[in-house]
Amino acid sequence: MNPPARNWARTLSFAPRRWARPGDEAELCALLAAAPAGEPLRVVGSAHSWSDAAVSEGLLVGLDQLNQIELLPDGLVKVGAGARLFELNAALDAAGRALPILGTVTAQTVAGAVSTGTHGSSLRHGNLASLVHGLKLVDHAGRLRELGQDDPDLPAARVGLGAFGVLTELTLKTVPAFRLQEVLLPLRWEEAIERLPSLVEDFEYVKLWWMPHTDEALVFHYTRTDAAPTVPALSRNVDEKLINGVVFTALLAVSRFLPAMAPLLNRLVQAVYFRPQSRVAPSFEALTAAMPPIHHEVEHSIPLVDTVPALRELRGMIEREGIRVNFPVEARFGPADDAWMSPSFGRASCHLGTYIGESPDYKRYFAGCTERLRALGGRPHWGKELHIDPDTVRRLYPRAAEFGDRVRTWDPTGRFSNPFLRRILGPP
Ligand SMILES: Cc1cc2nc3c(=O)[nH]c(=O)nc-3n(C[C@H](O)[C@H](O)[C@H](O)COP(=O)(O)OP(=O)(O)OC[C@H]3O[C@@H](n4cnc5c(N)ncnc54)[C@H](O)[C@@H]3O)c2cc1C
Repeated sequence: MNPPARNWARTLSFAPRRWARPGDEAELCALLAAAPAGEPLRVVGSAHSWSDAAVSEGLLVGLDQLNQIELLPDGLVKVGAGARLFELNAALDAAGRALPILGTVTAQTVAGAVSTGTHGSSLRHGNLASLVHGLKLVDHAGRLRELGQDDPDLPAARVGLGAFGVLTELTLKTVPAFRLQEVLLPLRWEEAIERLPSLVEDFEYVKLWWMPHTDEALVFHYTRTDAAPTVPALSRNVDEKLINGVVFTALLAVSRFLPAMAPLLNRLVQAVYFRPQSRVAPSFEALTAAMPPIHHEVEHSIPLVDTVPALRELRGMIEREGIRVNFPVEARFGPADDAWMSPSFGRASCHLGTYIGESPDYKRYFAGCTERLRALGGRPHWGKELHIDPDTVRRLYPRAAEFGDRVRTWDPTGRFSNPFLRRILGPP
């Protein structure tokens, strides 16, 4: 297998000087122990980050062969760092278990998703990193090290940004398998955002989509149920793939070349797809969706209490400044957690995702979102487009300086440094 040529969004290319694909932990340890001094190294998961998190200036490592999954008796699962989330979901389901939280897609590797703080939307369940009970990694000198549940470095290493070493295995907490009833509730925009604070408290999982230039939003909420699944997984997947791969891809192409059409097309999408719907599915299907069409993403996690003003601010900005946005704004939620570099560190959060297909307004949109959401303390998602410097990181993440100190202890020669980490932590 070759290294990935580019990331999922086709915005970055990977051209490492050297590529390695170890078959097991021992081979990986030997690789690091024998690597020339000063040769930088990064791991690439499934290259689903918009940011340059996985870009290597030297050796790039792929761990797709470290994908073993072992269920432990106490509800924990040991999973190889290179296993994909969809593989883990299938193995857990076969054993009557599930992850309590998932993001929108499941193509990511477990280690890649955990390392950037990948999250779903629930005030009752933290991000994927919060499920980490322990982990194993190979350090800069090729030594295999283990961080258990009580290790003082675990809160730093959970959302570790690839800075501590090469993760080889994670032990995650799981829950008994469960089904969810998903309800899609279209509401007038004003009503949707007024009701949002109570909806996120009332339902276990809630998210909101708003197509800019329309006056309606779509609330998704989910409740546990014992009812039988209503839509066969295959048919749902085919439907979504068809809509995302053909219909939405075509609409994005039109608005790319005729950006003035974006408001009209958004109204069309809203009228056709923002309909009341309800369905029952296993949790790992209800909480996830088929791959969306290629687009750009920026995301900021703001304090939960600022959700409504932030949504109003975004809408005001788009309308006042005439920015033509051809993709939904998404509001998702998460409880406070204790991983030092998690966007939800120490505070319940609204993860405000601002997305856009290729468009002449793309840079202006993201610059405006970043300026306004940073003013509310918005912390960037490490896997999405990232414009930041170390001072801003320290202002937004209270333990960023300590994180940098721990990284320097674990990796004194800066082997795992890359341009992404230097923008966050400064020079190694
Ligand atoms: C279509 C799409 C949907 C998405 N949906 C969501 C969502 O719902 N919620 C959300 O929060 N995010 C979402 N993301 C972002 C995505 O989850 C993150 O960018 C994630 O990090 C990608 O995982 P990956 O396996 O592709 O990792 P990569 O992008 O390949 O790598 C990410 C980082 O992890 C490091 N890494 C990977 N493996 C290891 C390892 N074994 N040891 C040490 N470091 C490692 C890499 O070096 C890099 O720094 C989405 C992205 C896409 C493209």
